Amino acid sequence: MISKKYSAMLNNTSIIREFAQYASKRAAEIGAENVFNYTIGNPSVPTTDDFNKGLIDLIQNEDSLALHGYSPTLTIYSVRKAVAESLNRRFGMEYVPEDIFMTSGAAGALAHAIRCVTEPGDEVITFAPYFPEYVPYVDGTGAVLKVVPADITSFQINFDAFLEMMNPNVQAILINSPNNPSGIVYSTETITRLAQILSEKQEEYGHDIYLISDEPYREIVFEGTDSPFISKFYDNTICCYSFSKSLSLPGERIGYVAVNPKCRDAELIINMCGQVSRFTGHNCPSSLIQLGVAKVLDETSDLSIYEKNKNILYKELTAMGYECVEPGGTFYMFPKTPIADANEFCNMTAHELDLILVPGDSFMCPGHMRLAYCTTTDMVERSLPLFEKAIKMCK
Ligand code: PLP
Repeated sequence: MISKKYSAMLNNTSIIREFAQYASKRAAEIGAENVFNYTIGNPSVPTTDDFNKGLIDLIQNEDSLALHGYSPTLTIYSVRKAVAESLNRRFGMEYVPEDIFMTSGAAGALAHAIRCVTEPGDEVITFAPYFPEYVPYVDGTGAVLKVVPADITSFQINFDAFLEMMNPNVQAILINSPNNPSGIVYSTETITRLAQILSEKQEEYGHDIYLISDEPYREIVFEGTDSPFISKFYDNTICCYSFSKSLSLPGERIGYVAVNPKCRDAELIINMCGQVSRFTGHNCPSSLIQLGVAKVLDETSDLSIYEKNKNILYKELTAMGYECVEPGGTFYMFPKTPIADANEFCNMTAHELDLILVPGDSFMCPGHMRLAYCTTTDMVERSLPLFEKAIKMCK
């Protein structure tokens, strides 16, 4: 007997992956330079020399048994301490090592955070458009994901719709800013209002409500964008961070959970993370990679190409007539499709122009398309005539 749950998931695979596979197939047929692949959020710049040198130094100079040995259940203390100090230095916080738990990327961090603050059947609210993997991330815990419809004029929070959905069964709110897919960064005004509502609702319902803040793009913020440090605004915040994008290390699977030191149960939640790991088989990220990132916590890869690509695409696409809310960060943008049916539009551009975009339906926001512009500026520039052709084909 095979698992019904996981075999059923095979019928519901990722549309992003489907379009990405089509792009790879076309690249094999006609050459990668002739395919304009905007599908996958894989960083396009290398990690830092300091990170690589730090790993070499560890391998050459550290005791092999310690370096490649099992990490402690709550992950390596010196690394947790370095993360706490870096956050305090950069954001004026007061984390202690006991508030930090190293994880396998943001995905691992979310798997721990959601399990620590929900029971099966509890509601977790998120906001469209959102990263489609939130569905399996939340479903896997037994909690129920509820989605607030998008405010497509700004992609900030649609507070009226949110308030309508709040009820005593809601235990956690899951946000992602800077946002995949819209590229929007929640403003100080948005976060302040969200924090105020959650504080009021905690009182009204007589239980804690946790804000789970998914922050893999925290370091990719463009000039002039208001980018508040979310944990500062609400005591019951659990920050889920990743080095996948900031240090271009998605394959190394490294990130962390940081529970706001002002959260009453901060240390308990971190201790519980060690127990969640036993259940999920997570058993800590590699000791080598934990120690490696601890050496470069205040660094990022050279992320400037993402802003350069955004500037070109935003200026040129809006001049052609595409409607788009200007991204404040990440390496995504989320324009409206020129026709209402985003699937039809993205299939058309893929098959007729080899311009591969992802329909917004995958992010619970129809009528839009996601461009992942973590690619070369050369590809961006050569793709512009195709965007022009595509919009003309719809008239
Ligand atoms: N959350 C969002 C919004 C993402 O876009 C991603 C990856 O693209 C993740 C979480 C998972 O990131 P990680 O590679 O750190 O597990």
